[in-house]
Order: sequence, then structure tokens, then C-alpha cells
Amino acid sequence: MKSLSFVIPAYNEAENIMTAIEKTDEAFSGSDARLNYIFVDDGSTDDTWRTLMRAAEADGRISGVRFSRNFGKEAAIFAGLSHARGDACIVMDCDLQHPPAAARRMYDLWRENPHIEIVEGIKRSRGDESLGSKLFAGVFYRFFNNAAGRDLTGSSDFKLLSRTAVDELLRLPERFTFFRALSGWIGFETAQVEFDVEPRAGGETKWSFFRLLKYGISSVSSFSSAPMQIVTVCGLVFLLFTVILAVQTLWRFFSGQSLEGFTTVILILLFSGSIIMLSLGVIGYYVSRIYDELKRRPRYIVSGRINAEEKRDIMMP
Ligand code: UDP
Ligand code: MG
Repeated sequence: MKSLSFVIPAYNEAENIMTAIEKTDEAFSGSDARLNYIFVDDGSTDDTWRTLMRAAEADGRISGVRFSRNFGKEAAIFAGLSHARGDACIVMDCDLQHPPAAARRMYDLWRENPHIEIVEGIKRSRGDESLGSKLFAGVFYRFFNNAAGRDLTGSSDFKLLSRTAVDELLRLPERFTFFRALSGWIGFETAQVEFDVEPRAGGETKWSFFRLLKYGISSVSSFSSAPMQIVTVCGLVFLLFTVILAVQTLWRFFSGQSLEGFTTVILILLFSGSIIMLSLGVIGYYVSRIYDELKRRPRYIVSGRINAEEKRDIMMP
């Protein structure tokens, strides 16, 4: 018999909590897993925390961690993992978009193959996502795969991690995390389980386009400095143009026809000016990330706990 902790970030999910537990229990009926649930209330403004308190009173397998404000899903996942005690943990969304039946398949696969430390949920279909969102995901993953050298197509935050994998993940000291890719970065033997993204059980998605964009930029920069190298490449391309234009200009000067090409000068000036500013922006972004990491602020602040205790020994220094 193994204990299995479900780590479930919940931001304004009051209406989904009970269903998530019921459906998961149902999917695991007949299994040898001893389930427990760790919900992380990521600064919800609805009834999420009260629902959790009521649920935990009735059912000792449920515990909750409450953030002092909204710290984001990444922080919630890490908080959940550091409160989990199970021999394995499954990170799952609260809205049942990650089907509990797939969680069962992950667990069974892990039980049958003890050498596997991570089972990743891979999206077979992206469900009823909007076209824009699908397009954004496509472009983002292509860029991320090239920049960071890690194929994330179809990947999700829906994963089973063994105790070993969880402990290693929690040892990573950085503040800006990208769970989806970090769980691959730590290595170990990994298996995959495919699933179809279900429609949301209730409520609405919390990811606006700009939030997604911010998350995307933050994720790339936490895994790759390629955007800064693009700056160097731009510089080289410019140098090449400079040489060509210099030869042409000198040629004209010496042949006495140098008063032409004003438009070219203006265009080049504007173009190079904007590239330089963009490049400074990219560098500035990385510098600000270094600054943020250097401050060593905690990933999240906990304002309440039910049946939960943090594993201090493996938390950040
Ligand atoms: N979530 C969170 N903090 C946030 C945003 C989302 O903990 O700031 C949780 C949310 O409650 C859900 C999961 O992350 O359990 C996925 O969020 P959502 O369903 O809104 O995203 P989508 O499925 O649309 O990508
Ligand atoms: Mg969702």
C-alpha cells in the first residue's frame, strides 16, 4: 500500500472542490493507494477557504494551505508539494480539466514500474481552448523548445512525482519556477500518460491573454538566455550591413556623388535605434530577474493551514 497526495492549486474554485474530491475518489476505488488531498488556496476571493475548512472537518484526508494573497499557480504547486507527505504526489487542476481517470493510470503505471520516478500527463487534445490560445501555445512551445532545448509540446502541469522527485524539486532554490519544465530538468526515469483535456467543471479560466504572455516570457527566461544571444546575432547582422554600406558610401564619396541616400540614412537610423532599444529591454528584463532572485523573498506567504505542516528541512534556505 502506498500513500498518494493530490496537490491541487485552487484559485476561486469553491464550486469545484467537492466534485474534484468525489471524482478522484471514484477513479481510485479498488486501488491500493491511500489518498490524501492538499489544496492550496491561492488567495481566493470566493468561498474556497471556507469550503475547504468544512470539507476538512468532515474528512481527515483533506488538508489546506492558504496564501496571504494570490501568488500564482507555480507558487501554489510548490507550496502543495512542500506540505505533501505521500510516497508519491499528483499535481492536478481543481477544475477537473485533468481527468482523475488519467491520474489513476499514472498511479498504476508508477506502481507497476517502481524504477519510474515521474509520470507526465501529455495532452492528446487541448480540449475546447480558443484558437488564439492554441496558436499562442504553439508559437510559445516552438520558441521554448528551440531556446531551452527541451520539448514541451503537449506537456502540462498534470504529473505524478515520486517522493524522490518531489524532494529534489523542492531543493531548487530559485524563486521563478516553471514546474512543467523543471520536473524534466531534474531528470530521473520518466513515463508518459496521454489524456484529453476535459471542459472546465465550473467557473472560468483565470488566465487572461496578458497573464499568459507574462507567464510565457517568465518561463523562457527562467530556462534560457537565448533571447540575449539574439541580441548578439542582431549585432552581427548589423555589422555586416555596416560594412557593405560603408564600402558603398566611400565609393560614392570618392567618385563625387555623395549627396544622395538621405532616406536610407533615416531608415537605418530608425531601424537600428529600435533594435538597440529592444535589446536593452531584453537585457533589462534579465537584470530585473537577477535582482528579484537576489532579494531572496519567499515564493509565497502562508496565512492559514488546515491539517497541514510544512516540511521545513527541505524548504529553501
Ligand atoms: N490557479 C491558481 N492560481 C492562479 C491561477 C490558477 O492556483 O493564479 C489554479 C486554478 O485554481 C486551477 C489551475 O490553477 O486549479 C488551473 O487554472 P485554470 O483552470 O484557470 O487554467 P487553464 O486550465 O485555463 O489553463
Ligand atoms: Mg483549467
